[in-house]
This record gives sequence, C-alpha cells and structure tokens, in this order.
Amino acid sequence: MPVRVAIIGAGVSGVVLANYLTRAQAEVHWQSARPAVEGLLSVTIFERRPTPAGPDGGALLIQGEGLTILDELGVGAELRAASSGKLPQDQLFVMRDALLELLLGCLAAQPNPSEVKTNTEVACLQETSDGVLLEHRPLLTCQGGRWVRNHNPHLESELFDIVIGADGNAPSSQVAKSIMGDELARAESVSLLVLQALVPCETPCEPYQEYLQGAGRVSGKFEISPVVGLAPGSLGTGSAATLQQWEACTVTVPSQDPMRNFPRPERWAENIMSHTKSIAEGTVRLAANSIVESAQRGTIGRLHAWVPFHKNDLGRWRSSSGRLVVLGDAAHLMPPTLGWGASCAMGDAKRLAICLTEGLSQPLLQCSGSSLAANLLADLDDFAESRRGVVAPIMLASVNESMKLSGAAPAVAT
Ligand SMILES: Cc1cc2nc3c(=O)[nH]c(=O)nc-3n(C[C@H](O)[C@H](O)[C@H](O)COP(=O)(O)OP(=O)(O)OC[C@H]3O[C@@H](n4cnc5c(N)ncnc54)[C@H](O)[C@@H]3O)c2cc1C
Repeated sequence: MPVRVAIIGAGVSGVVLANYLTRAQAEVHWQSARPAVEGLLSVTIFERRPTPAGPDGGALLIQGEGLTILDELGVGAELRAASSGKLPQDQLFVMRDALLELLLGCLAAQPNPSEVKTNTEVACLQETSDGVLLEHRPLLTCQGGRWVRNHNPHLESELFDIVIGADGNAPSSQVAKSIMGDELARAESVSLLVLQALVPCETPCEPYQEYLQGAGRVSGKFEISPVVGLAPGSLGTGSAATLQQWEACTVTVPSQDPMRNFPRPERWAENIMSHTKSIAEGTVRLAANSIVESAQRGTIGRLHAWVPFHKNDLGRWRSSSGRLVVLGDAAHLMPPTLGWGASCAMGDAKRLAICLTEGLSQPLLQCSGSSLAANLLADLDDFAESRRGVVAPIMLASVNESMKLSGAAPAVAT
C-alpha cells in the first residue's frame, strides 16, 4: 500500500514539492526494479482555485536556490531563453501564472503524475490514529449556468498518511492553524500597498528602479522590469506553453491600515499614475504611463494590487505526530520587498521532498500508533531547522526593507 500524501495548495511550493516527489519515486522504481504500479507514494494535490495557473497574481522574482530548482525541474532554460536578458544573469522575473503553468506541465508529463484536484477547498483536518482525515468541498458551484461560491456545507472526506500544508499565508492555511491554532497562526499586514501594471510587449524597456522621496524621508519604491509571461492562448497547454515578454511597472508605497484603505480596482491605475508623476527621468515617466494605460485598456494586460503580510516563523513546522507539515508561506511569510518568497518556498519544497523520499527504497513510514516513525520525525525536524537557517536572514532583510519603505525604523539592524 503506497504512503498517501496530500499536498494542500497548488502554488509554487506545492507544485515544486509534487514534482520532486514524483520524480524521486520514478527513480526509485527504476533503481529497485519495482513495478511502477506498486507505487511507493500516492500524491494528491488539493487546490481551491478552479485553474491553479489562472491569471491571478503578478510577477515573481526568482533568484538563488529558486533558479537552481527551475533548472533541475527542466524549465529554467526555457524561461531564460524567453527573458529579454536585461536582468542580471542570477535573476528571473516571471509571471506567477506562467511559472505554475510550466511546473504543472512538468508534473503532468511524469510517468506516474500526482492527481491535482482543482476547485477543491480543504475545510477541515483531523488527526486520527489511522492518519489525517481531510474534509473538502468545491469552492465554486454552477448555478443557472454561472459559477458562484459554494455555500453547501456538505463535505467529502479522505484519509491520508501525511498532509503537507503548501496552502500559503499562515492565517488562512488550514495546516498552519491545525498545528499552532488560529491565534498563533495569525500574521500582520505590512503597512505597504503594492500596485503593479503588467502588459505583453515586443521589446521591454530597460529595467529601472528608484526610491520615491516624500517629505524628506524614503516613502516608496518604483520599478520597471522585463517579465516572462504566457503568450495568449497558452493557458492550459502545460509544458508546451508559449512564453513571451511582458513588462511590469510596480510601485510599493506606505499605507496606514492597508486592508481597510485598500483601493477599489477601478482606482488602481490612477493610484500608480499619481506616484509616477514624481519620477524625475522624463523617458521613464512616459514609459511607466504607457505601461499603465495599456494595462488598463488592454484585454491581455492586467493590473494587480495587494497588501503584503508578514509572520516571522510559524514556530513549529510539524504536528507532534509528524502527520501535518508546513512549508513556504504557511511556515514563514515574508514581505515581497526583496523578491525572495517564491525562491524560499521552492527551496523548502526540495528539502522536504528529500526528507520524505530518502528512505523510499526501504519502508519509509512505519507508523507506530498515530505517530510517524521516530527516524522520520527527526528528519522532519532537520528539514525545518536547515530551512530556518536559510530563510531567517532573508526574512530579516525583507522586513527591514519593508520598514524602510514604510518610513519606519528597521526591526533589527542587518
Ligand atoms: C493568487 C496569488 C497571487 C500572488 N501574486 C504574487 C505576486 O504578484 N508577487 C509576489 O511576490 N507574490 C505573489 N504571491 C505570493 C507568492 O506566490 C508566494 O509568496 C510564494 O510563491 C510562496 O508560495 P506558496 O506555495 O508557499 O504559497 P502560495 O503561492 O500562496 O500558494 C498557496 C496555494 O494554496 C491554495 N490554498 C490555500 N488554502 C487552501 C485550501 N484550504 N484548500 C485548497 N487550496 C488552498 C491557494 O489557492 C494557493 O494556490 C501570490 C500568491 C497567490 C496565491
């Protein structure tokens, strides 16, 4: 009987983890000449979005270990080839949907791919002596030909040996809340508002970045960057997706109580324009305005706004039985100010996959009672410790950058 692994969330960390688990399993089958049908792990991803790679989200910077992982999974070269070459060699700026599309495509191309259950929101988790009972329901339901939020309380349940929380932002992560409780999983919004205009383009402008000055102190950041995105019609084509160049114009500005003062979507373009006025360089100002106007007008371009959240470290990354484990934003939620969230989430996923698959050729999960085998618990603790060592300094630098942008004093000197 294969070990039943559920991953909640088909975001960056969930899809990278599934890719590594599926590949490791295929290698073990090959090395140990076990029949593929026997299966060592069965991996199911639960994603509440109907289309995990839908056009919801902006551009993600990928750097450091994130780039190595994209190369290992076989999508790095393609993304680099589609990038304009105007960013430093050790960075890639890519639309979130394009990245997920390629990573989901790689997963689907594996000989024994994970199952991805979309439009499936995990509502509740319960640890039992046999495993974790995972209860879910459709996020949307079709009523009179229209997709609307599902209010039917009926839940389906399934039993898993291990449930991995790749479900993002700790306060809404079911796994983080199950491990730490609602109160301790809470995160704080950062006093910043990020607004982005994104448009496909033939030849992107030169990258440009400056701090916006307000009343004698730093009060925000303005950036123009080339981005790799999907060409029209590429959504749903997986690893065969065609990529094309996009351009992003981003402003990150202080905002008191940003959740309450979050601007309505029809004001986003105007909001960005009000900040681009202060850019001294005439050509950059014109380029910025043209990106924003095209994003506002166009059918393919888009505007995006969000309030970053911050939570230093969840504290514990696994439940005491080891059957619930978190990674990525669910474990450590950093402001996006230095562009490390996605790369750190990918690094967590790779390290966790190594931890879960290292003993695959021997029985891995000898469950004693309701808890996992002691060696696996120790491996999971090593996973959390080693990742904390990588993530903590990056988190501190990102928080300090966000405090600088919001005009506050740094949390701790770097
Ligand atoms: C829609 C979206 C847009 C984003 N846009 C940007 C951006 O423009 N710039 C930036 O820097 N960062 C952005 N981020 C954040 C960035 O992608 C993450 O910080 C980073 O990649 C860490 O990834 P993660 O996999 O840990 O979490 P996430 O990327 O947040 O993925 C979590 C996934 O879990 C799913 N999920 C959550 N709860 C449940 C549940 N109960 N049941 C089923 N599924 C669930 C979510 O739908 C999501 O797909 C965005 C995140 C999201 C979800």
